[in-house]
Amino acid sequence: MTGKDIKSFSLEEAVQTVREMGGKDFQGKQLFEWLHQKQADSYERMTNLPKSMRSRLEEEYPLLTLQPADAQISALDGTRKYLFALPDGQMVESVWMRYRHGDSVCISSQAGCRMGCRFCASTIGGLVRNLSAQEMLEQVYAVGRAVGKPVSHVVVMGTGEPLDNYENLLKFIRILNHERGMHISQRNITVSTCGIVPRIYDLAREKLQITLALSLHGATDEKRQNLMPIAKKHTLFETLEACDFYFEQTGRRITYEYSLVQGENDGPEDAERLGKLLRGKNCHVNLIPVNPVKERGFRQSEQKVVDKFKNKLEKYGINVTIRREMGRDIDGACGQLRRRHMEMDADRPGTPSGGKITEREKKR
Ligand code: SAH
Repeated sequence: MTGKDIKSFSLEEAVQTVREMGGKDFQGKQLFEWLHQKQADSYERMTNLPKSMRSRLEEEYPLLTLQPADAQISALDGTRKYLFALPDGQMVESVWMRYRHGDSVCISSQAGCRMGCRFCASTIGGLVRNLSAQEMLEQVYAVGRAVGKPVSHVVVMGTGEPLDNYENLLKFIRILNHERGMHISQRNITVSTCGIVPRIYDLAREKLQITLALSLHGATDEKRQNLMPIAKKHTLFETLEACDFYFEQTGRRITYEYSLVQGENDGPEDAERLGKLLRGKNCHVNLIPVNPVKERGFRQSEQKVVDKFKNKLEKYGINVTIRREMGRDIDGACGQLRRRHMEMDADRPGTPSGGKITEREKKR
C-alpha cells in the first residue's frame, strides 16, 4: 500500500484502503469522491461512511487541507497569488489568473528546484523536496476555495521542474482528470518542462491529452546552455526530437516558451535561428518578457524588440503569442513570493508587503 497521503491515492488504492478496514468497494469510491469531488475538509463530513471508519481514517491518514498563509491580489488584472505552508514548514505558491477562456491556476510541483536556470527565482535555494500528488492537488482545491469557484484550467508552471517529480506528477494529473474527482479535462492541463528529454519520451508514451510546454529560451545550443544548465545534458536537436515524438504520439501541439532577455537572446539573428528551427512544426511559440528577479540582474527586452522578434517568427509561418504579464504589480516571477517569505523566516522580524501596490487578504 502507498503512504499516508490519502489524497494521492488512486481510486483503486482508496477502494483497497477501505477494504482493508472491512468496508465495501462502493464506500471506497465514496471516500474518493469526498476527497476530490466534494473536497470535504474533514472526515467528520463524510456522513455516508460509518463513524468507526471515519475515526480510523482520521487516525491513520491525517487529512491535508491547505489554507493560504499569505495572499496578494493584483489591482491591475485581478491575478491572485497564494502562499501555502505545508505541514513540514515548506512554503509553496500558486497563482490564480483570469483569462478570456476561463480561470487558470498555476501550481508548484516542487519546493525549490535544482534545474538552475539563470533567470529564475525558484532555483536560487536549490531543491528542497518533491511535492506529493496531494500537495499539488490541494493547491488547486485550496485556490478554488479561496476564490469561491472551481478551477477550470491548470498549468504546472510554478516553482519546480514537474518532470523531475514524474511519478507524483502523473498521479496528480490522473486524479485531477478523474470523473469521480474534479474531472478537469486533460486538454485544460499544461505541463511546462525545461527539457528533461527521457521523461518527455515517457510522458509521450502515456498518450495523455495534456499540453506540453517546452522552455526553449535559446535557438542554439550555446545560447541555451548560457541560460539553462539542462541544455548541457540534452542538445537542442535531441530536445526538439523528443517534442516531435510527443506530438506524434498525442497529436497535441507543443508550446515553446521563449523568455526574452535583453541582449542575451532577443536579437534579430536569434529570431531568425528560432524561425528556422521551428519552421514547419505544428507548434506555438509563447514569448515571455523576462520577469526581472533582483538576484539575477537580467533586463526585459523593450516592447519594440519583442514586437520585431514576433514579426520575424511569423514570417516563418509560426504561430506566436506574447505572454500577457499577469499581476505585474505583485511579486510576479515564479517563486518570488515564496523566496521573500523564506528570507523573512531567515531574518525576522519583517513585514511581508515590501510596499507593493497590492490588496492583501487577511491571514485566515
Ligand atoms: N520547470 C518548468 C516550469 C518553470 S516556470 C520549466 O522550466 O518549464 C514556467 C516558465 O517560466 C518556464 O519557461 C521558465 O523558464 C519561465 N521563467 C522562469 N523564471 C522566469 C523569469 N524570471 N522571467 C521569465 N520567464 C521565467
